[in-house]
Amino acid sequence: MQLGNYIGGAWCAPADGQYMPVTSPVDGIKLADVALSGPADVDQAVKAATEAFPSWSALTVKSRATIMYRFHALMSKHMEELSELVVRENGKNIAEARASVAKGQETVEWACSLPQLCQGKVLQVSRGIECRDQRDPVGVVACVVPFNFPCMVPMWTIPIALTLGNCVIVKPSEKVPCTLYRVAELLAEAGVPGGAFQLVNGAAPVVNALCDHPGIGALSFVGSSHVAQLVAERCHSVNKRVLALGGAKNHLVALPDCHVASAAQDIVASFAGCAGQRCMAASVLICVGNVEGLVDEVVRLAALLKPGVAAGEVGAIIDAASQAKILRYINEAEASGVRVLLDGRPWSQRSPGTWVGPTVLAHASAADAAVCDEIFGPVISVLQVATWDEALAIENGSPFGNAASIYTTSGAHADHFSSRFRAGMIGVNVGVPVPREPFAFGGLAGTRSKFGEGDITGEGALEFFTTRRKVTTRWPAVAAAAAAHAPAERKGNGAAAAAGGDAASFVGQM
Ligand code: NAD
Repeated sequence: MQLGNYIGGAWCAPADGQYMPVTSPVDGIKLADVALSGPADVDQAVKAATEAFPSWSALTVKSRATIMYRFHALMSKHMEELSELVVRENGKNIAEARASVAKGQETVEWACSLPQLCQGKVLQVSRGIECRDQRDPVGVVACVVPFNFPCMVPMWTIPIALTLGNCVIVKPSEKVPCTLYRVAELLAEAGVPGGAFQLVNGAAPVVNALCDHPGIGALSFVGSSHVAQLVAERCHSVNKRVLALGGAKNHLVALPDCHVASAAQDIVASFAGCAGQRCMAASVLICVGNVEGLVDEVVRLAALLKPGVAAGEVGAIIDAASQAKILRYINEAEASGVRVLLDGRPWSQRSPGTWVGPTVLAHASAADAAVCDEIFGPVISVLQVATWDEALAIENGSPFGNAASIYTTSGAHADHFSSRFRAGMIGVNVGVPVPREPFAFGGLAGTRSKFGEGDITGEGALEFFTTRRKVTTRWPAVAAAAAAHAPAERKGNGAAAAAGGDAASFVGQM
């Protein structure tokens, strides 16, 4: 199967006719050939979006939300099919894949409620003068997405951007383009017109062209920090609105008063779930003082896990390059004296597919590469410290700022850490603290987890995918009539009267 581009409501081949193979990390079987597009394809998509924009944006937000209701229903109807696609191309287990599609659907629900959420302010700012916020769609917007959640991450932006009246061009990850191909068909079936939603497949050249194209008003990016920074800088250089979410290194802090059995289960789910390939995965566990039996229990539970894509199993690693990177970090850690408490390397011998088993490393130094860098695999580094301050210094010292969690049974202890972690999403006895709608998703601005301001979902998305203008209105006849009927004392009051009337007189003079 050849996956071309979806432009102007039709599937078409890329201008250069180039494709690359997409293989399943589960069994190495080729799933499709995906288009490798370039600037000419982006230009074609921008032209189609620009043509579609006047009629799409002229619909009321309620009409567009009605289309999203239909899309929501189609997602429910095809939930199993979409989840299977995620399993095949990404390698998650089926339970994780279903949960990811369902989580994506929650953002569609939020988008359906936009008619209740997107009104601006209106105020009579002085007699006869009204000011109101006018919220307009940005126009043509682009969304660039990573491999690790083929349905959920694109759903953070697509339904919200569309419902707000934008025409959306999505660049899927070239590693997992199949799910979005099906999503495009479902959006069309729901009633999204050609040109309002489009896909341009490919790799870095497409992203660069999206950043550079003057016809695109805003670009959201989700992926690694290195590329997020490149994309943010490239967009800034042409004064384009951009929000770029990057990578992560998430810390869990366990205190001696934590509930060991439940914490251990949660920690294993956090670092080994989705084979560690999620930006919310735990990757450093810091035990403060004697957290009796916690690390042993983490190792025991993680050792019980099996490779595979059935519910409860540890899924595949996306490709051989990622697998090699994970193995390199474990090998180098071991060579430098780090103790390997649980070794997932033997899973890499499993064939077909690309696999690495859950791995637990015990470090003596917080400066080790495996403690500091994003590995993006089922690997957790354990550190032992004596004080709360030491734990916070390690967490705060990370250049990332996506998520952090505290395990304790004390509310006061939880508050102490929650207010001092340097991360955008905080968990208390929750190892994957993904905020659910209506709470918005996003790491801390100013860290390597986020380049730009605001969150990618929720109210942040409402701001990102609209422009606000302030409209000040005066109807002279109405203002004069109102002035004539105003009480006598207000007609001649203070400074405003001395300056030649009430505050209304200043409007238009500033
Ligand atoms: P990636 O950065 O390699 O790729 C992301 C997107 O950028 C893809 O569409 C890819 O085609 C494109 N791209 C790759 N290299 C590029 C380049 N040099 N120039 C322009 N575009 C380029 O990321 P990935 O491997 O697909 O995804 C994993 C990463 O994403 C991890 O670092 C993970 O933490 C991060 N992630 C972050 C979040 C978040 O919310 N912060 C969510 C999911 C994933």
